[in-house]
Amino acid sequence: MIVMKFGGTSVENASAMERVYEIVRGRLERRPMVVVSAMAKVTDALLAAAKAAGAGDRERALELSRELRERHYNTASELVGTGLFTQLHARLEADFDALDELLRGIVAVGELTPRTSDHVAAFGEILSSQLVAAAFKARRIPSVHVDSRDCIVTDHSYTRAIPQLDETNQNLKKLVQPLINDGLVPVMGGFVGATRAGVTTTIGRGGSDFSAAIVGAGLDASAIEIWTDVDGMMTTDPRICPDAHRIKVISFDEAAELAYFGAKVLHPATVLPAIQKNIPVYILNSRNPSCEGTKIIPRAPKCENIFKAIAAKKRITIIDVAAPRMLLVHGFLKAIFDAFDRHRVPVDVVSTSEVSVSLTVDSNEAIPALAADLAQLADVKYEGRKAIVCLVGENLRNTPGIAGKVFGLLGDVKIRMISQGASEINLTFVIEEDEVPEVIQRLHRAFFAEVDATIFG
Ligand code: ADP
Ligand code: ASP
Ligand code: MG
Repeated sequence: MIVMKFGGTSVENASAMERVYEIVRGRLERRPMVVVSAMAKVTDALLAAAKAAGAGDRERALELSRELRERHYNTASELVGTGLFTQLHARLEADFDALDELLRGIVAVGELTPRTSDHVAAFGEILSSQLVAAAFKARRIPSVHVDSRDCIVTDHSYTRAIPQLDETNQNLKKLVQPLINDGLVPVMGGFVGATRAGVTTTIGRGGSDFSAAIVGAGLDASAIEIWTDVDGMMTTDPRICPDAHRIKVISFDEAAELAYFGAKVLHPATVLPAIQKNIPVYILNSRNPSCEGTKIIPRAPKCENIFKAIAAKKRITIIDVAAPRMLLVHGFLKAIFDAFDRHRVPVDVVSTSEVSVSLTVDSNEAIPALAADLAQLADVKYEGRKAIVCLVGENLRNTPGIAGKVFGLLGDVKIRMISQGASEINLTFVIEEDEVPEVIQRLHRAFFAEVDATIFG
């Protein structure tokens, strides 16, 4: 069997869902399971509604919900004939009534907790997956809707819940495998799971890719296909460099580094389940399905270019912890990292000197409290609006002088931190956020003016 995941733009309206249907129909003999995101921008709108409700703005919250209701009803009526529409409409209506009730509840309590936020955000995938399943049925693909909350078991870390693989795999084997064996196409929403007690959770923004990989690994898929709105993983974000090249083939390690450091086309956790089961992952374009996309495999073939791609991750804060003469004191670094751990703030890039440590984190609300905590150990400064730029390629391992070449091109750019990851396949540095487009374009011109035709499209 294979897993086919369709992202938000691939299910953004009825005609996009028609394309999904055509693509899936062409692969029926490979016994697909389909995982879908919410329709484009729906998760953002749901979170905005939840936030408005939390702030007591009942009107705004319900208005956003009304707009979503209309969009889903319209899509449903375009997709399926009258017979199925009545049934589907009743389902959507019940879901939107529940959403409105939830939003009113949030207004009444006057507080939006992460748990309730997940409850609201989950509606996007719950709705889109029902629409896609109904569209398949209406077109005689024998499909069945699967509620991801019955399959994907997570812990309680709302908004970034961690999937519990053993229980999830048992559920998949018990609930989904028999459907596939019976020749049905299961359609499930990504991003959403539930705790053991059945409380709805989400696994982090962009998490539908991860859901697809979990399902693929759990059901021993022969391939995981991530269908999106670009021709594959590109040498950099095509919105920054329209002349970016498609990467035909890339290793799991390289793809993981790129995803982690900002290549939004793939959720960073996606490759883990695939690596464990050695399942190839493909990135494909639902608007250009004949393009062969990007294949992500355990080992990449030899490449003439030094790098495979350049990624950038914005909204980064640098935290400087300066402790004159204290750094050598045993346990100081541990105390710093313990503070990050207590506040549950993951660190990306670290650099140290004798007297100070600089760390980068994703900008978030926990930083002021974390900084206050760190201030008990040493002097603390933090500064937002930074970005991490990351160049990735396995040739970094065995080509001397690359750092000199990269930074030689950026002589006029203020570089705040530099790190060459222990994986030896990435070169990473931190700059001001507003310099990202210029820096990426300059590096891309220098390193991808000519490309190895066996690796790049
Ligand atoms: P989906 O909704 O299908 O999950 P996303 O918006 O999450 O799609 O990811 C696709 C987008 O990722 C592309 O439109 C592109 O702008 C962006 N992107 C960033 N870096 C890259 C890259 N290196 N290669 C391809 N796309 C990239
Ligand atoms: N709909 C979710 C989001 O927008 C998950 C996803 O699309 O992958 O973050
Ligand atoms: Mg995505």
